[in-house]
Amino acid sequence: MTVHATIAAKGLLIHGDYVPARSGRYFETTDPATGALIAHIAEADAHDVDAAVASARAAFEGEWGAMPGKMRGTLLLRLADLIERDTEALVELESRDSGKSVASIRRQDLPAVLDTLRYYAGMADKIDGQVIPTHPDALTYTVREAVGVVAAIVPWNFPLMIGMWKIAPALACGCSVVLKPAELTSLTALRIGELALEAGFPPGALNVVPGLGKIAGQALVDHSDVDKVTFTGSPAVGRGILEGAAGNFKRVTLELGGKSANIVFPDADVSAAVRAAASGIFFNSGQVCSAGSRVLAHADIYDEVVDGLAARAAKVRLGCPQDAATQMGPVVSGTQMDRVLDYIRIGRDEGARLVAGGARHGQQGAFIEPTVFADVTPDMCIAQEEIFGPVVSVIRFSSEEEALAIANGTAFSLAAGVWSADISRVHRFVRRLKAGTVWVNTFGPTDIRLPWGGARDSGFGREHGRAALENFTEEKSVWINVA
Ligand code: NAD
Repeated sequence: MTVHATIAAKGLLIHGDYVPARSGRYFETTDPATGALIAHIAEADAHDVDAAVASARAAFEGEWGAMPGKMRGTLLLRLADLIERDTEALVELESRDSGKSVASIRRQDLPAVLDTLRYYAGMADKIDGQVIPTHPDALTYTVREAVGVVAAIVPWNFPLMIGMWKIAPALACGCSVVLKPAELTSLTALRIGELALEAGFPPGALNVVPGLGKIAGQALVDHSDVDKVTFTGSPAVGRGILEGAAGNFKRVTLELGGKSANIVFPDADVSAAVRAAASGIFFNSGQVCSAGSRVLAHADIYDEVVDGLAARAAKVRLGCPQDAATQMGPVVSGTQMDRVLDYIRIGRDEGARLVAGGARHGQQGAFIEPTVFADVTPDMCIAQEEIFGPVVSVIRFSSEEEALAIANGTAFSLAAGVWSADISRVHRFVRRLKAGTVWVNTFGPTDIRLPWGGARDSGFGREHGRAALENFTEEKSVWINVA
């Protein structure tokens, strides 16, 4: 394994400068593949959050808020160019901090970050209202105005990409942003803040305040001068955010967890379905909100699906995330590894049949073997709860109605997949699956142009596409008496 140097301590990025936390406190960030220390990072508390919000407010009321959309778009394009210039350094940093494989960051995360920035750069000067005729003596129209100061709170599974899903549309709309990265993965967020300054964003347009969720995150959620919270993370924290945001009636968008079903019928291309089902759960070590953690296989092809998944699980190349040949790195931390191993133990205790993996891989780092459970029943804990690791539950079904009942039978509604050559059946499933996204004869692709989000325990609101612009703007109606 490559040995990397520790990098210099990092401050909070507030109003264009790195500053220490007022408390003087720092927390550690470590490499999940080795356990080695990467850096000490200043730990924001409520005082630092106050300073970051005041700076964001000043930017919004000042130079940044007054900047025309065309110029905001130009700055977003410049930021994209700088990220592209620094791609390799960002890939390496993200990989060390999160354990994600460099291959997947290069292939997916970084291209998505650039696409997101350039897509919303193109939108920045197209945020318009409409003239709505009402009365002959009146000119009546609407304008869309930026909501103000946005708190963006992000998880650790796609730190750069999910961060950008929030930052880019918020900045395109003219909001100022205080970004709170997950405490396990703050380094690339700080680097994006630096690059934004280099691109020419005025101080305060984007502040970055690493810190603990319960302290820095909660302070942002409770802050009376924050207008909007956009959050991606767990349902438990999402629920608390909704309560905290009620204080000053902040607008809220919640992207939460999932337990996505991937349903395979015998008339599908079963080998393609198995291939996609394997990557749908093992990609990013299963730490994906829309991971296909439940594979529903029809009785006629059940054994073929189970055997195929087990064979694919056995072939996944685990290893150092910075090695280009590695397909799966560690999970994000030792704590997360223990949590996933606990679910594997529960699965065994519940009577599910382990057909691949099921244990820690190696003695160093937070690696878990790709794990396949067969003969899972819908009521089992491993079929209901989000594991957020490389563990798939294969469930048997015999009819369409049964498959639909199982697929819809969890608290989540984020994504689902259906594999079939029967177009009528596909339509029935698209209509009846409770999910914000339905994939047909594929599993997992997303695109910034296509809305993304869920319902129930998967949260509410939509990111991506034009929908995201509504998250960060308020519509104002204007009535001018012209009599
Ligand atoms: P988490 O909820 O523990 O943390 C997410 C963020 O919230 C972190 O930045 C954390 O510091 C912060 N936080 C924690 N407590 C807080 C509080 N009291 N107030 C304010 N902020 C607080 O989630 P995680 O473990 O980082 O991420 C995994 C979860 O994220 C999974 O449930 C996964 O499904 C979900 N997720 C959803 C999507 C989606 O698009 N729907 C995408 C990725 C991840």
